[in-house]
Amino acid sequence: MKRLLRLPLYAKILVAMGIGLVWGFVAEPLGLLGFTANWIKPWGILFINSLKLIAIPLILFSLVDGISSLSDVSKLSRMGGRTIGLYLFTTVIAVTIGLVAVNMIRPGKFLSAEKRQQLSEAYASDIGTRVTVAHQQKSEGPLQVLVNIVPDNVFGAMSSNTNMLQVIFFSILFGISMILAPADKVKTVKGFFEGGNEVILKFVELLMKFAPVGVFALLASLNIDLQLIGALGAYSLTVVLGLAFMVFVIYPLLLRFLSRIRYPDFVRGILPAQILAFSTSSSAATLPVTMECARKNLGISEEVSGFVLPLGATINMDGTSIHQAVSAVFIAQAFGIDLTVGQQLTILLTAVLSSIGAAAVPGAGIIMLIIVLEAVGLDPAGLALILAVDRPLDMLRTVVNVTGDSTVASVVARAERALL
Ligand code: ASP
Repeated sequence: MKRLLRLPLYAKILVAMGIGLVWGFVAEPLGLLGFTANWIKPWGILFINSLKLIAIPLILFSLVDGISSLSDVSKLSRMGGRTIGLYLFTTVIAVTIGLVAVNMIRPGKFLSAEKRQQLSEAYASDIGTRVTVAHQQKSEGPLQVLVNIVPDNVFGAMSSNTNMLQVIFFSILFGISMILAPADKVKTVKGFFEGGNEVILKFVELLMKFAPVGVFALLASLNIDLQLIGALGAYSLTVVLGLAFMVFVIYPLLLRFLSRIRYPDFVRGILPAQILAFSTSSSAATLPVTMECARKNLGISEEVSGFVLPLGATINMDGTSIHQAVSAVFIAQAFGIDLTVGQQLTILLTAVLSSIGAAAVPGAGIIMLIIVLEAVGLDPAGLALILAVDRPLDMLRTVVNVTGDSTVASVVARAERALL
């Protein structure tokens, strides 16, 4: 037991996952369903609730802090524009890849109609009303999506997790206004958001300590069978294929045409950062190494790497975006809901925004997925379906996040003639 407690967090989560899976298998045959529902499932709900609890402060602090730190480099507005443009461009490509992959492979269809029905009853109690809401939104006219993003009361917006897009909108404008306001006047506000962001990162770290219990409880009450595992396998494979496409096709193309660095040299240069990203699942934790690799191994000047990479760690998460697109559609498929083209466009928009708002720490992406799910009227409890496989996917998507930041840094460095 002592040895178990001394394991690193990711190993504990893996062990919890294993035990939870076994429990989920045997609960029904052993007649433990009642016990599981009364004594185990609540811990899973507790875990999901605590994740939802942190979502709005997480967006607010991480986004305001990330955007307002641009003011340190206001002289570099051209570089800033280029960087943000490229970040948005790669993120949109990433979400699109995710959407195409999940619509082609359709991993959710590995579940039978009966299983889907069972799942939607278990996890999407109020899915009916949500679908109606989604349909209503659809019939409200094309610009209603935009209207819905702009809240008329910020406290109203922050009072419900369903309004996260509105909170993102507020945070972005707040951050931009902070850049525009006189620096000496907003010092205190900036310090507040910087400090707040640190607090939130710690908060997430604390929550993750509870993750093994949460993961166990969620899996144990899943009532798992082979079919579900098959679908989860297909889902993971879809995510991995999307990530691989980004790393082996899109980034090499960008480097080939917009930078002078050869892809093999690029990979050799940033490999240490990629390995660290894989083992920590955090672009923020990897950042010092990413910057060092960019400077020393790729020859990117300090001015460019010092601006592009920290910003990228905060707002550019291509791996996370691919994961969000695939996950949202997979959960819909698992619940037996066919998403309309409009809803998939909403996923595109929200996944881009929420990957920008996601903190660069383990498990941040899955919290932000709640935004995407709620934006298209899916019950965020559907997260329970994919939580089991989130850790390995988090490790992989963090590698892609860091690789994406380094790719953009190489491109910006070339444009700024800052490749040494
Ligand atoms: N762990 C990822 C990162 O730090 C974020 C995520 O959860 O997707 O880049």
